[in-house]
Amino acid sequence: MTYSLGRRSRQELEGVHPDIVRVVERAIEITDQDFTVFDGIRTAADQRKLYNRRASQRDGYNRKSQHQKQASGFGEAVDLVPWINGKPVWDWDAIYKIAEAVVQAAVELGVPLRWGGCWGDVPVNELSGSPENWVAAYVKRKRSQGKRAFNDGPHWELMHP
Ligand SMILES: [Zn+2]
Repeated sequence: MTYSLGRRSRQELEGVHPDIVRVVERAIEITDQDFTVFDGIRTAADQRKLYNRRASQRDGYNRKSQHQKQASGFGEAVDLVPWINGKPVWDWDAIYKIAEAVVQAAVELGVPLRWGGCWGDVPVNELSGSPENWVAAYVKRKRSQGKRAFNDGPHWELMHP
């Protein structure tokens, strides 16, 4: 099965950093799981709304999201949500499949990315093991620090090494 980006996904990619766009365009070609670009660039007000309903840890003003316009002049994050039976579905098995395709695309294109499934200071390009392992390790690390894990499986952002 070959998937392609729909009109809405293309619209969401407007204003997003070209390196991320290239990764998303490659990922949709190789993924076993269809996805939609659910969120690309956001205004500070958009970000504040998400923060207010606890969907993000960043308030858009004091703490900016990578979805907001960065110094590069682009948004530097996208949310890729599984597209199942004609609607976006937050399903981890599907998210892992998408993650495998995104990581493969990022490695091929040499674009360093951070994944919201496991956050972390090392680009996913340099990790070994599976996305499922990375999530488990992240949750374990947070718990050992007495903190809550904030897994954002659809979220991908550019890293500047
Ligand atoms: Zn996001």
